[in-house]
Amino acid sequence: MESFDYIITGGGCAGLSLAYRLAKSPKLRHKRILLIERGPKSDNDRTWCFWEKSPGPFESIVCKKWQRLSVFQSRFKRHMDIRPYTYKMILGSDFYEFTLAAVREAPNMQILYGGVEHIRNLEDKVEVRAGGKTYLADWCFNSIPFSPLPKEGTHHLDQHFRGWFIKTDDPVFDPGQATLMDFRIPQHGETRFLYVLPANDREALVELAIFSNRHLQNEEYDRIIGAYLKDHWPGIKGFSVDRKENGVIPMTDLRFPKTAGRIVQLGTVGGQTRASTGYTFWYIQQHSDRLLEALENNGIPSASESFARRRSRLYDRVLLQILKYNRLPGDELFARLWKKNQPAWLLKFLNAETNLPEEMKMMATTPVFHFLGALGREIFRKPGKYRIYPESPDQHNVS
Ligand SMILES: Cc1cc2nc3c(=O)[nH]c(=O)nc-3n(C[C@H](O)[C@H](O)[C@H](O)COP(=O)(O)OP(=O)(O)OC[C@H]3O[C@@H](n4cnc5c(N)ncnc54)[C@H](O)[C@@H]3O)c2cc1C
Repeated sequence: MESFDYIITGGGCAGLSLAYRLAKSPKLRHKRILLIERGPKSDNDRTWCFWEKSPGPFESIVCKKWQRLSVFQSRFKRHMDIRPYTYKMILGSDFYEFTLAAVREAPNMQILYGGVEHIRNLEDKVEVRAGGKTYLADWCFNSIPFSPLPKEGTHHLDQHFRGWFIKTDDPVFDPGQATLMDFRIPQHGETRFLYVLPANDREALVELAIFSNRHLQNEEYDRIIGAYLKDHWPGIKGFSVDRKENGVIPMTDLRFPKTAGRIVQLGTVGGQTRASTGYTFWYIQQHSDRLLEALENNGIPSASESFARRRSRLYDRVLLQILKYNRLPGDELFARLWKKNQPAWLLKFLNAETNLPEEMKMMATTPVFHFLGALGREIFRKPGKYRIYPESPDQHNVS
């Protein structure tokens, strides 16, 4: 049976974010590392947006950046300078190519393509079965969703979306200005908005995002995007659609175990998706940094969360509850947050980088009655827990 120090199961965003850091770490060059992914990845299957203040490890593959963002709602609009933050976009295909190249170059790392069948804690090792073979490791870093996310006992909203990569006949976009949220479409008792991310003056990603558990047929998403462009971008006389993308991001307040014995959970199944917004990429990067630091310093991947991140989980539960039960329409809630706060401040809050007094100030800008009511309901509620396996023998180990 082949043995490794670390096995990374799942080579998507989280698995590759960690693998990239391990590949670049001189201190961990002596560790034998195996990355297992179902199959070669090269498709541009998703586009990641996030914001940060300084250049990150993937700066060289950021394909577009903006420091001016706009938000629109029926009774409100704001064009904002978000400095010191920069809103960045990375194409999935570039990310896979870049990170996999680093992994292939690292002499201590191997890639195996095959389906992982199970991961099991043994006494002082972890066993991974993939492609009909069994491997042993000291630690397994897993981002594979072996169990579906339960909805009972949780506030759960899917963020489902469809995007068009369009090319217009005439120059209509300001490449320096992106539309972050445009709520000027019928809301139907849900939270519905579009974002428009221009690559240049003729090309943009126009994406419709809906927070609800009722998904639409593709034709219906397409009809809404088409109507939006006609109503709110009168300068667009003609355009072609190069490509379309669909996706679903679960927004849930489930409690995700961070570890189970020698299994360390990463990415969405490691609880790195921000429950009130669906943003995940940046949190995955923070988590990968903390894991790397722990491995380099003491060999144990215990990546404890900052207090700010822990508090942010409570705020997410409150916001998710408000959105899920439509205690306040989502468009009004977000418009109010953007209207009453400095943009950079709100972005800082959404990245869980604020301190408690700053958060209190921020809360005061929400409709306090709704916020405190939802907070009161959350304090006595314990959301459901995610099981790594449906009948997980590992659960007793979960910390
Ligand atoms: C279309 C789309 C757009 C998004 N855009 C943004 C965004 O702009 N900003 C943001 O912050 N977040 C965004 N997200 C959310 C989040 O960043 C992504 O979902 C991210 O990919 C999550 O990373 P992950 O590693 O947890 O999961 P994944 O990236 O899905 O990785 C899991 C990996 O496990 C592999 N796998 C699964 N089962 C097995 C198996 N049995 N054996 C072997 N391998 C297996 C899969 O092939 C996959 O590569 C988006 C999500 C989607 C779907």
